[in-house]
Amino acid sequence: MESNRVNPSLGIYVHIPFCERKCFYCDFYSIENHSRRDEFTASLIKEIGLFSDRHPQFQADTIFFGGGTPSLLKPREVERILKALHEAFDITGQVEFTMECNPGTVDTAYLSEYRQLGVNRISFGVQSFFDDELKFLQRIHTSKEAVEAFEKARKGGFEDINIDLMYALPGQLAERHITNLGRAILLHPTHLSVYALIVESGTPLFKAVEKREITPADDETEAAMYEATMNFLVGSGYNHYEVSNYSLQGRECRHNLKYWNSEDYIGFGPSAHSHLQNNRWWNVSSLREYLGLLDDGTMPVASTEALTREQMLDEFLFLQLRQGKLDLDRLRAEFSFDPDQEFISHAIDSGHFERAEGVLRLTNKGFTVCDEIAKEMLR
Ligand code: SF4
Repeated sequence: MESNRVNPSLGIYVHIPFCERKCFYCDFYSIENHSRRDEFTASLIKEIGLFSDRHPQFQADTIFFGGGTPSLLKPREVERILKALHEAFDITGQVEFTMECNPGTVDTAYLSEYRQLGVNRISFGVQSFFDDELKFLQRIHTSKEAVEAFEKARKGGFEDINIDLMYALPGQLAERHITNLGRAILLHPTHLSVYALIVESGTPLFKAVEKREITPADDETEAAMYEATMNFLVGSGYNHYEVSNYSLQGRECRHNLKYWNSEDYIGFGPSAHSHLQNNRWWNVSSLREYLGLLDDGTMPVASTEALTREQMLDEFLFLQLRQGKLDLDRLRAEFSFDPDQEFISHAIDSGHFERAEGVLRLTNKGFTVCDEIAKEMLR
């Protein structure tokens, strides 16, 4: 029977909800109790099968194992999940297959086996090369282990490696952040994701800030560090292609670009999000519920929404600006939306935008306030 391929290039996200220890700033869904791990893998495979039973076969060209800590998975487990994905999707061509790895859980043998299974991109949550900062963040690895993990990945055959770094830690000096960036690029990663520490509600960090035990960095410090990051990494040959992301030429993360370009992706595992043909849904953020629903043969979806034109326009504007551009022709053609010309002229005069071949490009100054610009345009 011929398959009905509706979308030629989906992204597939798989959420692995286990961590060795919970970092105190983290609000991703993950748990320290691994006792139901085998059940989880079986249910994940079931979920992938249920999706493919209910939908025509789709093609996919990116796979992203995130979490949580996917590097806790044994190669045998990755292989089983991958087999289910290959049965459910037509995964061919130049597939980008990323696995997030915690530098504290990296096993050399695992890395080579992941590579043999087709994983071709590793993303390391390094966060800092200073042990006191890592301790503050309650990460399980040391700076030395982060460097060793990176070298192991290179030896294991990985060319494409991302390093995640964090800045604007309480009391962190700008020099320290620049040292972190410098130590990262000495390793020659193909990609860097550099995020400010956000105090997410509900986390132990949030409670410590509420109790005034910790004072977060102020906005000015954060903005100065953001600007220093841009200058340093662009000056070191990295392309600033999203507000917090930098890559060598041609090494952009294709999977994340699908999110940022409002393309389609399907997420599996607790708390995973999906976006398909202007509909969005997300899974329950509880392993117990996830396992229970799949036991009953039910998709573990918490909620679904059909996107309205307004939501799509909002997202388009935010996501474009976060990529440093604004395609005015697409705005007119797809949304019949014409930004206020006075606002555009003002944004150009004040140095936030510059004109370039049919699009507006954000300057470095504009990047520092891109979310505010999007809000202003949507007023
Ligand atoms: S390792 Fe990553 S996912 Fe796990 S708790 Fe820490 S930040 Fe969150």
